[in-house]
Amino acid sequence: LLTCQEIVNLVTEYLEDSMNPQLRVSFEKHVTICPACRAFLSQMRETIRISGQIRSESLSPQTRDALLETFRDWNFEA
Ligand SMILES: [Zn+2]
Repeated sequence: LLTCQEIVNLVTEYLEDSMNPQLRVSFEKHVTICPACRAFLSQMRETIRISGQIRSESLSPQTRDALLETFRDWNFEA
């Protein structure tokens, strides 16, 4: 199963639909069982809906760090 960090790194690929099907299944499995990533994914969708674009750069290192910090607090991953 993917880690939360991998989900964060892969989210743009997922939303751009440029992910291979096998990885996509793993991604969706993780999101199904992980409330933090589910929240993250819906936040990304909302951001894209508002901005009308997906750009990897739109996820700044600070944002990424903050999200990973949140995930650590949730502590769903071993
Ligand atoms: Zn997660």
